[in-house]
This record gives sequence, structure tokens and C-alpha cells, in this order.
Amino acid sequence: MSIQLTDPVQSLPGIGPARAKRLEKLGIATAQDLLLWYPRNYEDRRERASIREAPADHPVCVKAMVATSPRSSYIRKGLELVKVNVVDDESAMEITFFNQSYVRTALTVGQVYLFFGTVERKGSRFAMTNPVFESEERQRFTQRIMPVYPLTAGISNNLLAGAVLRVLEDCAQQLEDPLPAEIQRQYQLSHAGYAVQTVHFPPSWEELEVARRRLIFEELFYLSMGLALLKGSGQRQAGLPCSYYDPEDYYATLPFTLTNAQQRTVQECFADLSSGSAMNRLIQGDVGSGKTVAGAACAWLMAKNGYQSALMAPTELLAEQHYRTLKPLLAKSGQRVGLLTGSMKVKVKREVYAGLEAGEYDLIVGTHALLSEGVTFQKLGLVITDEQHRFGVGQRAALAAKGTDAKRPHVLVMSATPIPRTLALIVYGDLEVSVIDERPPGRQEIQTVLVGESKRRQMYGFIRKQVQEGHQVYIVCPAVEESEDAAPGYMDLKAVTAYSETLRTNVFPDLRVGLVHGKLKAKEKEAAMTAFSRGDLDILVATTVIEVGVDVPNATLMVIENAERFGLSQLHQLRGRVGRGSSQSYCVLLSSNRSGETLQRLKALCSTNDGFKIAEEDLKLRGPGDFFGSRQHGLPPLKVADLATDTRVLYQARDAAQALLAFDPDLKQPEHRRLREKIEQLFEEHRDTFN
Ligand code: ADP
Ligand code: MG
Repeated sequence: MSIQLTDPVQSLPGIGPARAKRLEKLGIATAQDLLLWYPRNYEDRRERASIREAPADHPVCVKAMVATSPRSSYIRKGLELVKVNVVDDESAMEITFFNQSYVRTALTVGQVYLFFGTVERKGSRFAMTNPVFESEERQRFTQRIMPVYPLTAGISNNLLAGAVLRVLEDCAQQLEDPLPAEIQRQYQLSHAGYAVQTVHFPPSWEELEVARRRLIFEELFYLSMGLALLKGSGQRQAGLPCSYYDPEDYYATLPFTLTNAQQRTVQECFADLSSGSAMNRLIQGDVGSGKTVAGAACAWLMAKNGYQSALMAPTELLAEQHYRTLKPLLAKSGQRVGLLTGSMKVKVKREVYAGLEAGEYDLIVGTHALLSEGVTFQKLGLVITDEQHRFGVGQRAALAAKGTDAKRPHVLVMSATPIPRTLALIVYGDLEVSVIDERPPGRQEIQTVLVGESKRRQMYGFIRKQVQEGHQVYIVCPAVEESEDAAPGYMDLKAVTAYSETLRTNVFPDLRVGLVHGKLKAKEKEAAMTAFSRGDLDILVATTVIEVGVDVPNATLMVIENAERFGLSQLHQLRGRVGRGSSQSYCVLLSSNRSGETLQRLKALCSTNDGFKIAEEDLKLRGPGDFFGSRQHGLPPLKVADLATDTRVLYQARDAAQALLAFDPDLKQPEHRRLREKIEQLFEEHRDTFN
């Protein structure tokens, strides 16, 4: 009976209810799902050799005849050995199988098989252990490039490969191709059936590349199409109605003049908020570009309209700092700001909850604590998240869901992590973007130097000099919060504490040295931070808890211990803690690691202050990991495409998507029906995360 794509996997030979269940865990329910389960790697089993000429260091296919009946013995309980002798034209070889009883009946004397394994030499004798084998007539898994699949318990690679092969035999021709023929022609893409078949069982590496390119293009094309459709899906969502107020009245409350980029951003936001549609905007700006005051303008406008706003920050430190900045600022307009963090006393929290519900706060600043069940708003109109990469889209949506109106609150995201320009398109495809590409006036470029351990004394001297000039200094140590999985180069918290103690008593006995790390009680943390920002401390030893957003303009020197431990973008974030005032600021990277890759990374940081360039470099060196966990952004997962390296194809796919949508904006034409279905299916479960 021939297999259909829609058949359940159970209709395949060798797959019963138990295996079907396990496959289901991988998301494989039908024959079609199997075809979309792409290999994660390949093993080249094409090389052939005779027993005598086989290389000793890697497996090859050896054709040989079984010369003896398999002999089975037990070394100990549960360990069975099956041995069999085989011969080819010149030599004999003994093959040993461990715990593979089926071999006893699978091999027949006098029959010729292909054995794929490494031929070992024991004196003048040859041996092989646990080879893959099959008879010459029914050859499937030898003498070819073999797919290596991601597996789960109870499902072997051979089982999957066999099942895929079977489905391909029957169904490769049935695979519909959702890509419009014109696009395939224009971008020289292979047909879906060929691509799928080849990606599983490539006849050669060249053909695999051709097939992969088609699949990568297809994936990025769907992604571009889906994002474009969501973004433009007819009319924008209706938003909470807001009246426009002149931002000059807000500017007048600020102690400085906003840069042009900040003003433009505020204007863009105000236009959104008063447009009648829902705002969904990202403010992207390098560290220190002044996103906070720009973002707070929106809260100001909402309050003028009688709505509350919530600002969610990733750490308590940051939330508290925003609170300290924004409370006095908005007070000048008669607006009230509250704070809510997880570590606040229950009683205090309850008071804040009550105040929020009663509408006593216009803006509430907080951490994840804002998502707690107890939090209800009187009239939530705007959700701002700071340092967006720390939050999943889900959390953003969860906060927005606290809106009381039928209409969702406006959404504003502030991100200091510069997503490389080439990729912002994908990650933020659903947001409008305002870029603050100008620093507040009077800022100096931060000078960054890389030094080795031998310069430590000089570095201490430099710290002292900065302090003597009336400035303050950060010293950041890489630390793990749990000492048991401390990796080389990381300090455990004890070590950080000890180090700060050494600095305080031995190196800088005359200076005021403080310490802040993630495991301190919120009160202690706050005390240290407040002391530092008030100028009561000269030196602050810290772990990366200060990475995001902390703002002390008088700090002019950032020393980073074991700098090689950090990613480039993280280093850039850390460095952004200085250079916030008008004095020349410095960043000293300490590292005794001289490996080429490390040097290249750290030198990149010394040579530029441009966060975008750094992010691009980081992406090149480290891969997309941190930035583009697609899950985090609520996009359909990418199975073959790699956003970091497939940029060229990404652009082609995007161009193709735009051209097609210009021609058929809603994919209404009958020849695009399959395509539309495919995209809807891919974006289905993510739909709610793209507001
Ligand atoms: P980030 O974009 O990194 O979040 P912040 O909003 O924390 O930056 O601003 C950094 C510092 O610059 C703060 O001390 C802020 O008060 C100050 N600042 C912001 N805008 C201006 C401006 N236009 N002129 C002078 N200082 C500014
Ligand atoms: Mg900030």
C-alpha cells in the first residue's frame, strides 16, 4: 500500500503505537512531519575499501562475505557479544557486536554484506566493532551520505532514516510547492520535492547546498511574508484615543535640552498615541543616548489624557533608578510615580496595589512584579518595557493584558542592545522603530584600552588619579551566582567579596570602596548604589548587575576584570555606564588571555564606540545565540536558516516577499492559496504575540 503525506506515522513499517507516541513528542505525527524533520548533520559513508586497504583512522564501507555462523557469548549478565568472521577477496576479518542479539539471525553464512565501520589491525589480523551493515541487494544506509537526525529516547537514527526513506519513495512527488513558480525561476531555487529529498539523502555535498539554499530561502521568505502580512494586516488595530499635547510643555520640565534625535522620537511617539491606532514602537538607541526621558514623555502624555502607564525594567536596580529619576521629573507636571519590585514588603506592595487600582499613580515603575496577579490598574493606557531583550514577547503581552479597556494599551519598547541593522528587520519586523542616533551634547568618546595582568599596578594608579580628580570608578568582575558551577575566569561571590575587601584594606585604604552583587539583599544593594550615585563611594566593585542602565554621570572609569569572559555586546553595555557626564571617560579591559579570537574581540571594542558595529562584530564572532533566540521573539523557529550567516538569502527573500505583496497584497489570488495557508499555519500560534 502506498503512503500518503497525511498518513499517521503508524502506517509506516516498524512504527507501532509506542514509537508513534515517542515521535509525537518530537512533533512528528504524520508522514509529512517526518519529511520536515531535517537532519542536523551528515555522515559520509561513501568511501569504499577492501579489508586490507581500509584506513585505520576512519570508518569506510567494506564488502565482505559472512564465513562463519554468528557465535554468541555472555561476558557478564546483560552484556552479550556476537562474533562473526567475514572475508573479501584477499583477507579475513573478525567482527564483534555488543548487545545486538538480532545480528545472530540477521547475518547468513555465504551472503555478501556491506559493513560500514573502522577496520582495526591486531597484528596481522583485522577486526571491526559494531559496524552498520546491510545486504548488498537492499542497500540503504551504506555507500551514501547518511543523515544524522535529532533524536529522542527510544527512536534510533536508523529508524528515522528508514521511515523518511520510505516516505520519500512514495511521496516525494506529492509534495506541493507553495513557492510561486516565478520566484523559483528568478532566484534559481530548486523544486520542493527535490530539495526535501536531497536534504535528507544528498547524493553529493554540492547538491546538498543547492537543496539547502532553497529551504533556507523558503523559510526566510515565509518569515518575511508573515511579518509583512501581520504588520500591514489591513487597518492597524484601533488604539486608546488620546489627545495630542505640545511636548514643549514636557521639555520645559527637563534640566537639559533634548537632542534632535530625542525630539524626533518623542514626536513620532506622540503622533502614534494621538493617531487613534495602537502604538507599537521600539525606541532603539545606544547606551547613554537618553531613551528614558524620551520614553517617559509618552507616560506624560498618557497621564494628561487620564491614563496610567507602566514601565517594566529587567532588574530591581534599574527599576529603582528609573523611579528615582522619573518621580521628581513628572512631579513637576503634577504627575505621580510609584515603584513596585519583588523584594518590597508585602504590606508595602499591598499599598501600591491599592494605589494603582484607585488610580493614585500615573506611572508605575517596576520589575516582573508588575505581572503579579495582585496588580490591577484603574486605567492602563501604556506599557513601556526597558531593555527589551531581557523580556520575552510573552511578558510584554502579559503586561499589556492588564489593560481594562476593550482596547489594548499602547506599547513602547526601549532597547539599548543594538540589533544589527541587517537583522532588526526580522526581529522587530512587527514594530515601528525610532532610532536615537545622537548622543547628548558634550559627551566625549570613551577611550578603551586592553591591558594584561602586568599592568595591574599602573591600572590601580590610574584609578587613584581619577578619584583624585573628583571622579568615580566601577570595577566589574565576572561572577557566577552559584559557586559550584564556577568556570575558569569567573569568580564566585566569595572571591568577589574578598577582592573588594583586598582593594579596600590593602590597595585603596584611603578611598571609599563599595560592593554590589546580585545576591545582596535589595536593601543592601540599594544602599550601595545610592551611596555610589550620591558620591559617597569612590569605587564600586560590582558584578554584572550593573550592566543595564545604571546612571552615574560622575563615574568616568570602568575597569573590567577578566574581560574575555564577556560577550562583546555585554562589554559595550558595561562600558556604557561611563561617559555619561561631560568629562573624558575611560574603559580598561583587563585580560591575560591572548588567544587570537579573544584579542580580536576585545580589540574591536577598543576601536569603536558604535554599538551597531560592535553588535555586528559580535554576531560574526559568536553567532546569533543571545540575540536571536527566535522563541524569545515569538517568531516561528527557523529550522535551516541562520540569521547570522544567511544574510544574503535573507535580503533576497525579503525582496521577493515585498515584490509579491505589492502585486497581491493579501495573497488573494488562487495561485497563492497554498502559500497563504502555509504562512497562516506557521504564524498561527504566535499570532497573539504580534499585537
Ligand atoms: P539610555 O539611553 O542608556 O537609557 P538614559 O536615558 O539613562 O540613557 O540617559 C543617560 C543620561 O543622559 C542620563 O543621565 C540622562 O539624564 C542624560 N540625558 C538624557 N538626555 C540628555 C540630553 N538631551 N542632554 C543631556 N543629558 C541627557
Ligand atoms: Mg536606559
